Amino acid sequence: MKPLPGLSRVQFRSLCIVVLCVLTLALLLSAASAQGPGAGEPHIRPARPPGRVRRPVVNPYADVNWDTAHQVHSLSHIHTGWGDAPPIYRRVRALYDRGIRHFAFSNYYPSAPYYPLDQYLPDLPDDVIASPNAEHHTMTNTPLHFNSLGSFFRSGSPQGQQPKGVRRTWQHAFRATLDNLQFDDGGGVTINHPVWSKLTIAQVIEMFDYDPRVLGIEVYNDTCEKRTDTPQLGWSDEYWQIMLGTGRFVIGFFVIDHSDDDPLGRNVLLVPEVTEHEALRAYRRGAFYGALRGTARINRIAVDMPFISIETDKGEKVRFITQKGVVQETEGNQAKYRLTGQEVFVRIEVDCPDGERLFSQPIMFVASPVK
Ligand SMILES: [Zn+2]
Repeated sequence: MKPLPGLSRVQFRSLCIVVLCVLTLALLLSAASAQGPGAGEPHIRPARPPGRVRRPVVNPYADVNWDTAHQVHSLSHIHTGWGDAPPIYRRVRALYDRGIRHFAFSNYYPSAPYYPLDQYLPDLPDDVIASPNAEHHTMTNTPLHFNSLGSFFRSGSPQGQQPKGVRRTWQHAFRATLDNLQFDDGGGVTINHPVWSKLTIAQVIEMFDYDPRVLGIEVYNDTCEKRTDTPQLGWSDEYWQIMLGTGRFVIGFFVIDHSDDDPLGRNVLLVPEVTEHEALRAYRRGAFYGALRGTARINRIAVDMPFISIETDKGEKVRFITQKGVVQETEGNQAKYRLTGQEVFVRIEVDCPDGERLFSQPIMFVASPVK
């Protein structure tokens, strides 16, 4: 071979060796990549599609110090009495004995705050706190019932008297609720038992999107579940699942409502100090978890990328749930889930041996379309 013009024989030989080396390497690489599955062999895709694992855009537990937080058992939807129900002092005593420390009575004839609570119960235990609240109904454009948690808004009349209920639109009632909040950074509207109220998902989403202080929906309402005329309408978890799948940070509430016979449902607030203000701040941010009985506790929920982990005291089964449904089920009282980068949200449910169930709030990975 003749050297190229301008190159010495030695330089030309070196160039040829480099070119040969590169060609050999390219051939080897293409042979290696061709050693994939042969004819008839299944092509196994990677379990996780490549891509960056997203960080949470909303984590209601981000500011919770689990080592020092007080866990305050709270009722966001409860009536002082109904029909043959016990009088309020026996109601409070019975629920206090079941561990409830924060009461937000939500009466509706009239729909008016029962606050401050020691005005009605002078000998309240020192560790009981309370918040203004009421259940509003009879609006002109919806069968909705909602709670004005942390608001002094009142509507309606005592039982048997007129006028009955709000008698205005739900938008008017939401505005009045939000204009009368006790604290700017606490409380808001809860959409009560949407399935029992026969609201459509679209209607609930329209209400939820009305204002960032429309906090979420009742995922479990014990009275709607146990009512004898229309039983088993207490769970609205399918609504929750659909709404969360749209990227909306919908807070889930677990409430007893009227029930007084083995009442199920409570919200366990995670607060730095046991004050009425902190209780309402926790509700605003979703810094709490739901429980049916109050017999087990979540000790920690941590996001340590790319993992979400949970520790409980008595759990025997842990489920991680995303927009795809249950994506992992783990036996035991603690569990860890590896994020794939595809999650819109992750929430966690825990089953305990005595029938207790615990429900985390959602951790969101996709920015909400609204709010
Ligand atoms: Zn109610």
